[in-house]
Amino acid sequence: MSTLFLRGGLVGGRTQDIAIRDERIHTIGSGLDASGDEILDVRDKLVLPGFVETHIHPDKAFIADRTEGLRAGGPTAQTLVAELKKQFTVDDVYQRARRVMELAVRHGCTTMRAHVEIDAFVEMRGVEALRRLQKDLAGKLDLELIAFAQEGIFNDTVTKDLLRAAVRMGLAWLGGCPYMDKDQRGHIDWFFETAQELGVPLDFHADSSDDPALLTCDYIAEQTIERGMQGRVTLGHLCMLDVLEPAHRAQIVAKLREARIHVISLPATEMHVKGRTDTRRTWRGVARLGELRDAGLNVVISTNNIVNPFTPYGHPDLLRQMLVCAMAMHLGNLDQLAWLPELVTTNAARAIGVEDYGLAEGCRADLVVLDARDAAQAITEQSEKLYVIKNGRVVARNRRITELSAP
Ligand SMILES: [Zn+2]
Repeated sequence: MSTLFLRGGLVGGRTQDIAIRDERIHTIGSGLDASGDEILDVRDKLVLPGFVETHIHPDKAFIADRTEGLRAGGPTAQTLVAELKKQFTVDDVYQRARRVMELAVRHGCTTMRAHVEIDAFVEMRGVEALRRLQKDLAGKLDLELIAFAQEGIFNDTVTKDLLRAAVRMGLAWLGGCPYMDKDQRGHIDWFFETAQELGVPLDFHADSSDDPALLTCDYIAEQTIERGMQGRVTLGHLCMLDVLEPAHRAQIVAKLREARIHVISLPATEMHVKGRTDTRRTWRGVARLGELRDAGLNVVISTNNIVNPFTPYGHPDLLRQMLVCAMAMHLGNLDQLAWLPELVTTNAARAIGVEDYGLAEGCRADLVVLDARDAAQAITEQSEKLYVIKNGRVVARNRRITELSAP
């Protein structure tokens, strides 16, 4: 029986021991008996559930050095990456994606839902590489895959069939990108029909621009309700909400809530890509998660892109995303800093249906121990993740060493 004992960690603001048995949290309490266990001394250290990435692109990570990147009047990130991915091989994708995942684990991620691009340019090479990683990283990282149509579905003759084939091979989600097709509603309809036929939940990259005429999340919410898929649809981006008149936005938000849609914001990418043509006031382009949370939506943040033209400084560290989020979304008050970890832990787990998740007895022992006393300190100082624990086993130990010279 594998056993692990965390002594004196800070759980929900109280000093607690955590006893782990058989990959689960067995007991949480003070002054527990640790005999026979491997003991980690985590006194006065913040303990959180393992971080959950819900929206990330490991297949197109670490390619910034293969292209010039964004410049005024130049090609979009989509165009730059579409060209590059024609040359991707299975091994190339595998090596770059593996680097993303090992970094993510090192930074406290215990579950990841990743997009895998499927289209005429890259065909199934990304699927093959990522499925191999699912097996190779078992026990260190739970990896779920989204069959994702980054190039739309009406621009070539193969993507739709390849997406279906990928789901039949075991990819657990279907992922649409309506703004890549002229007929956005036709795109959305195809995804709902296919998701229902194949029995999988849906993710959309949605409403990433600042033109309200192109809004789709209202239609997605309507379809979600009409087809009885409430709670099984996640939406990434939703930048466009930020340019709607407040009364209109409130209407849309009410509809999203009724459809129990999970909102995933990607602040690092928005800050890099958005507002480039605005000559007076640079638009942040980041969904207002504080407001959406107050309205009762399940809100999440995620990393999205890693070192590519969409986010050249992207890094799979959700503690970093919390800081970016705090800065980009005006979420720096003490109560806000205290709930920011929800966005990468419990809310993220709920968005993608991770079961038995959290800091409670009986839950899976997926934990991160931070070198901080509370979330505000961890976010502000970007504290080290001292231990990352997956299924009750330590999968990463990190230490920072500083030597200050004497005055
Ligand atoms: Zn994305």
